[in-house]
Amino acid sequence: MIICYLGLGSNLGDRQQNIRLALQHIGSLKNTKLVRISGIYETDPCNCPPGSPRFLNLTAKIKTNLSPLSLLNELKVLESDLGRKDERKNSSRPIDLDILFYGNKKINSPRLKIPHPRLKERSFVLKPLKEIAPSLIKSLAKEAKVISHIEAMRKYAAKVKSSGKTIGFVPTMGYLHPGHLSLVRQAKKDCDICLVSIFVNPIQFGPQEDYKKYPRDLEVDSILAKSAGGDCVFYPQAKDMYGLGYSTYVNVEKKTDYLCGASRPGHFRGVTTVVAKLFNIIQPDIAYFGQKDFQQALVIKKMVKDLNMPLKIKVMPIVRDSDGLALSSRNVYLSAQERSDALVLSRSLQKAKEIIFGGERKAGKIIAAMRNEISRKKSARIDYTAIADVETLEPLEYVKQKALIALAVYFGKTRLIDNIIVG
Ligand code: AMP
Repeated sequence: MIICYLGLGSNLGDRQQNIRLALQHIGSLKNTKLVRISGIYETDPCNCPPGSPRFLNLTAKIKTNLSPLSLLNELKVLESDLGRKDERKNSSRPIDLDILFYGNKKINSPRLKIPHPRLKERSFVLKPLKEIAPSLIKSLAKEAKVISHIEAMRKYAAKVKSSGKTIGFVPTMGYLHPGHLSLVRQAKKDCDICLVSIFVNPIQFGPQEDYKKYPRDLEVDSILAKSAGGDCVFYPQAKDMYGLGYSTYVNVEKKTDYLCGASRPGHFRGVTTVVAKLFNIIQPDIAYFGQKDFQQALVIKKMVKDLNMPLKIKVMPIVRDSDGLALSSRNVYLSAQERSDALVLSRSLQKAKEIIFGGERKAGKIIAAMRNEISRKKSARIDYTAIADVETLEPLEYVKQKALIALAVYFGKTRLIDNIIVG
């Protein structure tokens, strides 16, 4: 029998029940045995029309004597038996069944492509697959170039530059999501070589914060980074970045006094220090940051300007789930209820925008309306809500021109941030 891996997804009707029924049917196909299933992952619809419901996804390991095409036909019949009516590619469906791997076979026919061609772009396939086929993920991850040693990274980057190529650099803490990957894609578009760093930087976390439990998955990250256009992942170790007796820090003043800087003392000092070190090692032409961390991007721009660092900073828009929640690696901490409550972040920002467009200019009134909306959610605890100048980050009394509306709210123990620019 051949070992195969299947991907199952459902975003219509009773999704759990659809998946249960599909698994039952798969297990009773002739000459086929269901061997293992992964846990269930809830994810945003991928390339689906706006307003499509969220998916439940999982992967299954089967053994079968069916040929690849017979297996595909059986799965198509099953999809239609379980009520899939709309055959268009990204439509909502009670059940979607994909063959991810069929033994070691490679097939590239119009009807069937194996391994599944978009497998490496999709964390909602890679993560459940890792649960039931860790060695498969390991071998996919080996296709990506990962450098851990600082000297090796420096040499690699210097070689790229001496050959006349440009470097686009995306610093991250990993557990990559489509927000990170939008930066990687842009870097690859603008530059010859795209480098992605993955480093959970201990010195930017406070003693009571989540440094230890911050989610990490280098294997899946390196597959995702490569498939988005990353040429190399830099994965330094904390003990090498901050050796014994380490004592040099970069501190941007003033802009770090507000917002997250006020709530998280020392945070930006940790960020600017690590980013300065990464810039020194890699010497990128352009570095990419997300507007999601608006203050961070502003602080880094200031550091680059004040310290005459020879590179450009590009800030990319916030990528959100289709229901408005800004993507964050920390979203995995949220329970279903907390995630649902967290939608109030983008909603209250939109509300603030509407109030301003309605003519209200007093920051105090706008903030009060936002806080009122957020406080209605049981699991929410506001850290800050602010309307600030987009350059200095000083609080504004009146919204006259361009302004930043930013907030940080805990849902349970998880602190999330979000922002918009108005005007
Ligand atoms: P992190 O791994 O959280 O440190 O983020 C690494 C980079 O990705 C930072 O520049 C972030 O601003 C950016 N980023 C994080 N989340 C998003 C998002 N939802 N949309 C766009 N960029 C993001």
